[in-house]
Amino acid sequence: MDDYEQEWADAWRQWAEIQIRFPEFNLPTAECMAGWYPIIERLLVELREIAPRGSIRVVQVKEKLGELRVYWDGPVEVQHDERVSVAVFAAECRAVRSCEICGKPGLRRIGSGGWLSTRCDGHAPPKSRPTHSAEEQRSWQPEMRSYRKGQPDSVWRYDPTRDAVVAVEDER
Ligand SMILES: [Zn+2]
Repeated sequence: MDDYEQEWADAWRQWAEIQIRFPEFNLPTAECMAGWYPIIERLLVELREIAPRGSIRVVQVKEKLGELRVYWDGPVEVQHDERVSVAVFAAECRAVRSCEICGKPGLRRIGSGGWLSTRCDGHAPPKSRPTHSAEEQRSWQPEMRSYRKGQPDSVWRYDPTRDAVVAVEDER
């Protein structure tokens, strides 16, 4: 096995343990590597506190364009619960700052052929470079709009200094 195969073998074993610890989410196979699993576990713990047990099903967990994507489904009342969207958004914001392989602070990088990944310096793909400077990326504050009954509602922003998602209106 080469390093890459070994990393995937370790990741699958770790993911199988998470699937056992969180059976109610019916977790699919993770299509991302183990560096992000603590972020996903933290999300699952939060979702457990927010929504009735068994009401949320995680449909897909994957890396896409160097970002974590968590797709889920649930009854209408859970879909309208913005705490769920905020928790998922927070996890995605944390992942884009963390190495997908080891979980250490990471940067979004672009490699040959335009391949995007989020990696620490040690796991940076050969010939890749950060999409933006480390300073810019550390200060990124992504925003998300939540919806209530299908209508645009609040705007939320990830605050990296607090590692928290805050309602933009509340700051004004
Ligand atoms: Zn790493």
